[in-house]
Amino acid sequence: MYDMNALESEGMVYESDALELRDIVYDLNALKIKDTLYGLNALDIGGMVFDLDALEIWRNAAPKKIARHPFVINRTQSLILFPSAIRMEASSVALLLASLLFSAASAVDYTATNNAGGTPGGARFDSEIGLDYSKQVLADASSFCWSIFQQPTEADRRSVQRIALIVESMDGVAYNSNDEIHLSADYVAGYSGDVRTEITGVLYHEVTHSWQWNGRGAANGGLIEGIADFVRLKAGYAPGHWVGPGGGDRWDQGYDVTAQFLDYCEGLMAGFVAQLNAKMRDGYSDDFFQQLLGKTVDQLWTDYKAQYSG
Ligand SMILES: [Zn+2]
Repeated sequence: MYDMNALESEGMVYESDALELRDIVYDLNALKIKDTLYGLNALDIGGMVFDLDALEIWRNAAPKKIARHPFVINRTQSLILFPSAIRMEASSVALLLASLLFSAASAVDYTATNNAGGTPGGARFDSEIGLDYSKQVLADASSFCWSIFQQPTEADRRSVQRIALIVESMDGVAYNSNDEIHLSADYVAGYSGDVRTEITGVLYHEVTHSWQWNGRGAANGGLIEGIADFVRLKAGYAPGHWVGPGGGDRWDQGYDVTAQFLDYCEGLMAGFVAQLNAKMRDGYSDDFFQQLLGKTVDQLWTDYKAQYSG
């Protein structure tokens, strides 16, 4: 019932990357407890680390199952978290919360420049998207990548000090070169529909290229593009023209096709894409699918297509 990208509490929806506690908004991408940093899927309570992917949230004597990112905020009782195996008194939870320290924001610098101001696309960018909004998207998309990839600390991530967006006249849509994202003003000009939402999705894809591992250059290019679109998909910015689940001819066709296939794999094992990406830090083999899911990637693709046939 909860979108993995949003938290609902007392009628308010929160981004998964932000936790509001006593009127302060914390970045959840790095959770620091007693000097140990954990990913979003782990919670340390009294020295025991629990997987947060399967939790029961106890509220008003009625447990609710929440699939992912299970932080429910109750304004009167602060934060209540219950691993499925245990229940805690609200007072204990309050003590637990008092021991939680959330890290400060990361030191990545996000910049945006419009070099196409004199063109129709540049003007539309300024009026319907804007530099400030774009910089925020770069930051939000980065946090989202760290969450999807389960990279709570800088040591887990690619070393990126700066991500720059440059709007310019060019063919195509966008590309990322050395953490400089080039966005086509001509594409902005010609897009029919909600251009702000479209470009937000494009930026999630391009920002992912800055944070994903590429197997030291050995990874399948279709998989690289598929992971970038998987992040865009999970962020809720899949455009209407994408193929749906089960679409496409090959697992490594790239982009939306591979993204939907990866979403199927993620359904087989939560955190699959994070683990696959982590393996791609030092190299690449199709066998990573076998190692993680017990089936070859070709068998997984056959299973996936069979599920959606007929
Ligand atoms: Zn790409």
